[in-house]
Amino acid sequence: MVNRFFRYVLTAGLMLAGACLFAPAYAAPAIDVSSARLGQHTDKTRFVLEMSAAPQYDVFLLAEPYRIVIDLPELNWRADEDAGRKKGLVENYRFGLFKKDTSRVVLDVGGPVKILRTVILPPSSGKPYRFFIDIQKTDEASFRKELAARRSQQKNTQVAIVAPEPPVNSRKYTIVVDAGHGGIDPGAIGKSGVYEKKITLGVAKRMHDILSKNKKYNVIMTRNDDTFLSLRERVAVGRHAGADLFVSIHADSISRPDFRGSTVYTLSENASDDEAAELAKSENKSDLIAGVDMSVQDDTVQGILIDLAQRETMNFSVKFAEMIIPEISKSGMKTRGRSHRFAGFRVLKAPDVPSVLVELGYLSNREDEKILKSGTGQQRLAQAIVNAIDRYFKTVDP
Ligand SMILES: [Zn+2]
Repeated sequence: MVNRFFRYVLTAGLMLAGACLFAPAYAAPAIDVSSARLGQHTDKTRFVLEMSAAPQYDVFLLAEPYRIVIDLPELNWRADEDAGRKKGLVENYRFGLFKKDTSRVVLDVGGPVKILRTVILPPSSGKPYRFFIDIQKTDEASFRKELAARRSQQKNTQVAIVAPEPPVNSRKYTIVVDAGHGGIDPGAIGKSGVYEKKITLGVAKRMHDILSKNKKYNVIMTRNDDTFLSLRERVAVGRHAGADLFVSIHADSISRPDFRGSTVYTLSENASDDEAAELAKSENKSDLIAGVDMSVQDDTVQGILIDLAQRETMNFSVKFAEMIIPEISKSGMKTRGRSHRFAGFRVLKAPDVPSVLVELGYLSNREDEKILKSGTGQQRLAQAIVNAIDRYFKTVDP
């Protein structure tokens, strides 16, 4: 009886699995990661991934701060997070989607290291495929040499930025909506554990939908799924599109749980206050978190921050920023005391595109988080920013 019951469960389970396998819409990543762990040995630190198949991979080093990056195909991550994480030379590690078809693991190492070997072992004694990377401490000069060697080997993995279709009507305004963070970079983490990257995408998508209904607008999203984009790529999307406006959406978290409300930021070489400077520093960390090589940068972004063209652009950015705040107030969301502030946000550095960064609210505050997580809250905030966009274009181009 029991046996027959189990046979039934098993058959039903197999049928279900079969149905999933053959359903055309079901496109799960082919490789599962069942375990990820760090091990400290006397002469090396080892990082191991257990996987259902042997993937292609690419390993490289990054400096400032010292990191090891492992790029793999898109993975189905089922592994538990390694308790405590810090072990041997590895202080922390993270993983996630870096871009379509590429999952990335970033190991933060406290100093210069040398990669002793990377190897994939085939399944044996009940274990699946295992990817190993062994690392050892080294000196700065050897690290730099290895870094340069691996960089020259590495194929160009930069994401091509596709120029958008030219607007049908040349008098259309092009608006770039930038959902902050994504993929391997979760952004801030809320009281309930919600990720900033999810909130920003939710609001950005809603903005896209509202804006797209207006024939005057050509709307471009920097991302519309859970992928990572470097800050430079985000800026480039705006510049390539010849955008009239760039709006970056974020939701911060802070150690003070009583802090709440929206703040709008524009670019400046001098931060308006310590809090703004601190925030810019943390938002600029996005590339670092995702293992982007920050030593190779586009000159336009890294170069001169303020020139004449940019000064004019900044005037427009400020004008727009000041229109957002009253709209957000009307939406029911609180706004901060000085609700327009400025600092050196890298994502706002296009010299020719008026750009603002909206911190919708604090995920560290219970009330704010509730609004930010809810569909109605997101819709209201999206509508508020769109109202400001409408007002802005009426003012600058009546
Ligand atoms: Zn953010």
